[in-house]
Amino acid sequence: MGKIRKIGVLTSGGDAPGMNAAIRGVTRTAIFNGLEVVGIGHGYQGLIEGIFRPLVASSVSDIIQRGGTILKTARCEEFRTPEGRLKAFNNLRNQQIDGVVVIGGDGSFTGARIFNEEYDLPFVGIPGTIDNDIYGTDYTIGYDTALNTVVEAVDKIRDTASAHNRMFFVEVMGAEAGFIALYSGIATGAEAIIIPEVKGEARNLKKMLENGNTRAKSSNIIIVAEGDEDGGAIGIAKKVKDEFKDYDIRVSVLGHLQRGGSPSAIDRVNASRLGHAAVEALIDDQKSVMVGLANGEIVLVPFRKAVKLHKDVDHTLVDLARVLSV
Ligand code: ATP
Repeated sequence: MGKIRKIGVLTSGGDAPGMNAAIRGVTRTAIFNGLEVVGIGHGYQGLIEGIFRPLVASSVSDIIQRGGTILKTARCEEFRTPEGRLKAFNNLRNQQIDGVVVIGGDGSFTGARIFNEEYDLPFVGIPGTIDNDIYGTDYTIGYDTALNTVVEAVDKIRDTASAHNRMFFVEVMGAEAGFIALYSGIATGAEAIIIPEVKGEARNLKKMLENGNTRAKSSNIIIVAEGDEDGGAIGIAKKVKDEFKDYDIRVSVLGHLQRGGSPSAIDRVNASRLGHAAVEALIDDQKSVMVGLANGEIVLVPFRKAVKLHKDVDHTLVDLARVLSV
């Protein structure tokens, strides 16, 4: 491929707090190394439509603390087609862009992997999703902020639940994964945590209610991951209410507030590290890889592995939550 002189950067898929810190990390590292940087708007859609603008050091001033993404993000059906990817390649060539940093989730990495099989123009990924569900990295950008947002919200719900002796079912995000639910559940002392990785947890909840422990408590918080098979918080709450009619039950679906807000210090620092590492990877002639963090160190993980393999939650934490919630 030869020497990298000019790189593009884009954000794709769901937004996550800290993406701006990563864009800043990419831009400033590239400039430090004498490279030109182009911001690509609206994810892969912008690659296909040619939504390019030069980024200089001051373009990324005053963004490290902001949620969302200054480049905008999108889902793009056309990039799934060979014709769409050809348009993207031609636009990149016309702009003389030698490599692209993609900040996004596993769908975005799948698109990047396919593109790199077709064209010799390296793509490097940075995991950006609040769900923390990408294999090969302990961490994804936005997860820490989302987790803290959930904990703050559940603490507030706990106050009102205690005041009324109520049981609350709180639904949190996480796509098909239970990371946000498990960690927020432990952090808020939830009475139960229902996640897709643990089958039959809704039935266990029924047993727990029959045991009567929950009645002795002035409040009960059940955290439900959105991806759970039992119909989310609303579905499970309805089943419980049907069987335990005397319980005063409420449901709270936290929704999109989990995606927003100013990124936590951890997200800002890690996004900065990953942005820096992604540019170094391109300079080192890497392609079709994600930069991640494992045991606090930067790692390179092939897209193929990152998207194919399943990242499981730590089941010792599931056990811990059960012990501590009695
Ligand atoms: P999140 O985890 O927040 O949902 P994501 O990156 O997984 O983020 P997706 O919507 O799955 O989000 O994917 C983002 C974009 O990646 C898609 O809109 C599409 O343009 C591209 N993409 C996904 N899968 C493929 C594929 N099989 N081939 C080509 N492009 C793809």
